[in-house]
Amino acid sequence: MTAAVFLDRDGVLIEERDDFVVDASRLRILDGVAAGLGKLGRAGFALAVVTNQPVVARGIIDEAQLGRIHQSLLDQLVALGAPRLDGVWFCPHHPQATLDRYRLECDCRKPKAGMLRRAAAALNIDLSSSWMIGDRPSDIAAGRAAGCQTILLECGRHLDPPIVGAENLGATAIPHRRARTLLHASEIILGSPK
Ligand SMILES: [Mg+2]
Ligand SMILES: [Zn+2]
Repeated sequence: MTAAVFLDRDGVLIEERDDFVVDASRLRILDGVAAGLGKLGRAGFALAVVTNQPVVARGIIDEAQLGRIHQSLLDQLVALGAPRLDGVWFCPHHPQATLDRYRLECDCRKPKAGMLRRAAAALNIDLSSSWMIGDRPSDIAAGRAAGCQTILLECGRHLDPPIVGAENLGATAIPHRRARTLLHASEIILGSPK
């Protein structure tokens, strides 16, 4: 079994936009991302994106469009010198979704751990030796619920109000470590005991 680093998307790999990422031309990869992913990849970690995408639940984009955005993201990261990521897991659901088929209390929307568990099963990952990096309390709670170590990226948006479903996370949202950039987070992981 391998260890993985699970990565939130918006605010961790790419700039979070108030007007949503609706096509790949709007992706802006954050500083330190390619270098940080490179370090983690060379150290043998599997790399998986786990992202809540309520834009699908709201009908702003569909799953096919989201798939194209993610394919482009993986390609753009490789073009910047990062390793090819092992996959993207997304939650299209929301308890107040506009579209009926996405309106449910699923087990995959962070702070729940369903996406991490599914990625771990697909990639043969040992969750207890894995890490979750995110910029919101719901990322940290999802990582802890899956049994991972957690790092909160303090890039600005971590001060935003909690997302729906993540209002009362309490101690489960306290990160093990904090970092400013993904490069910094990768250095913390590589410097930690296995
Ligand atoms: Mg985020
Ligand atoms: Zn879901």
